[in-house]
Amino acid sequence: MVIVISNFIDGRFVPCDNHIESYNPATGQIFAKVPDSDETDVAAAVKAARNAFQKWSAKGFEERSKLLHKVADILESRAKEFAIAESQDQGKALWLSETVEIPRAVLNFRHFANTILCDKDTCINQPQDGVLNYTVRAPCGVAAIIVPWNLPLYLLTFKLAPALAYGNTVVAKPSEFTSVTAWMLCSVIKEAGIPDGVVNMVFGYGHKAGEALVTHPLVPIISFTGSDRAGLHIASIAGKFAKKISLEMGGKNAAIVFSDADLDKCIPTLIRGSFLNQGQVCLSTSRIYVEKSIFDTFVEKFLAEVKKIKVGEPLSEGVWMGPVCSKIHFEKIKMYLKIAEEEGAHFLTDGQHLQLPDKNKQGYFIGPTVLSGLPDTCRCMQEEIFGPVTCLSTFQDEKEVIDRANNVNYGLSASLWSRDIERIHSIAPKLEVGTVWCNCWLVRNLHMPFGGTKMSGVGREGTEDSREFYTNKKTICVKYKTTTSNPFL
Ligand code: NAD
Repeated sequence: MVIVISNFIDGRFVPCDNHIESYNPATGQIFAKVPDSDETDVAAAVKAARNAFQKWSAKGFEERSKLLHKVADILESRAKEFAIAESQDQGKALWLSETVEIPRAVLNFRHFANTILCDKDTCINQPQDGVLNYTVRAPCGVAAIIVPWNLPLYLLTFKLAPALAYGNTVVAKPSEFTSVTAWMLCSVIKEAGIPDGVVNMVFGYGHKAGEALVTHPLVPIISFTGSDRAGLHIASIAGKFAKKISLEMGGKNAAIVFSDADLDKCIPTLIRGSFLNQGQVCLSTSRIYVEKSIFDTFVEKFLAEVKKIKVGEPLSEGVWMGPVCSKIHFEKIKMYLKIAEEEGAHFLTDGQHLQLPDKNKQGYFIGPTVLSGLPDTCRCMQEEIFGPVTCLSTFQDEKEVIDRANNVNYGLSASLWSRDIERIHSIAPKLEVGTVWCNCWLVRNLHMPFGGTKMSGVGREGTEDSREFYTNKKTICVKYKTTTSNPFL
């Protein structure tokens, strides 16, 4: 059965005449019809959000918190249904949707529902001048939220929850490749009692619906996650109209493995780092630098673990990796594998000739692919492939590997593997990235700032940083007694 998605505007599901076909990546069969929204649909959504803004922003923190908790509760009660839909729409193995994506989406709502209850402003009294200064935080208005297809519900809710918690209303545009769980979330929002117009969801293409949203004059703030290509374009529009912007973009994340690393812990983690969600995590490890003296041992152990990975139908028991998200992305990864061949890579595993059941033969499957022998200047060592492809390389000393890890346009994350705590503390600050994981990977705490440097993005999100982003600070200065000490008073 094909799911027919509608836009969600002013608390109502609004049917659309034109649709984009979206496919189940495991079968290549059409899975959903996604509205091909245009600027008229976007204008209606922004109008609804703007009309709802005053009432929503005037609500007390307690009331907003209660409603966000209700969203979390309903989402949690429907977790299985959401997990299955996410796996069918996006291709991720069901275990991953069930244990990470959906529970983390629930947590996003709970987290920001709780943190706003502790929110406080600063106040400075200057008795000698008879002046009291205090700050208030005002929500920005209608927030545009634009998200990609790799972690559809998680990334959407990581922005939606704080935007709402701090009193903004929202128009969100999920990826045209993965719109199903965002559309399902609209019914949760309705059932939870979030007032009409506070959350609006407009589906469709980036260059059409997305661009209409970011250029809309009543949208003062844009939170974007996606490619650097689209992010830079959006930034140029935002810059022209002085809109507040957060950009979370790509990565070419390095892991650095020293000879004293605990390989029994490091290798399983780097396997996850490289191939979780088919390598379609912005934080995926795609370059692994291993100290030369242990390289052969590392490769032997790493490949032994890679061989255990089961690739197949995401809903099947025991499957660890599903297909990549779309045909276009499948072709892009295959293009990079061809480039790797031309660049002289050694293919230590073959991800392109998989045995699949008949029902999955038209699916977009690529197995874990391990490359070695590529110089750092090669495209596969520099550009984000965003697939199950990881490149191994050797290094001899600390300074060399820091320079090489930093020598890419991106700066999202890195991981460091060593038992030498002095070395860890000395190297971590020198890596030009937003997050350094030491002897671990993807341990996320919502309190910690998240974001990148260089082409990986601008701005940070996470408890304090989301508060900073989704509100504008205002200073209020009150003179309460006459003094003569200050000539301005
Ligand atoms: P994309 O840039 O093609 O699309 C992302 C979103 O932007 C989609 O909703 C798309 O429709 C929209 N969009 C595209 N062009 C637009 C335009 N001109 N105006 C407005 N909206 C537009 O990215 P993608 O292929 O969906 O996602 C993969 C990328 O996302 C990778 O580069 C990955 O690293 C990055 N990503 C980054 C993070 C992070 O937190 N840094 C997290 C996840 C994914």
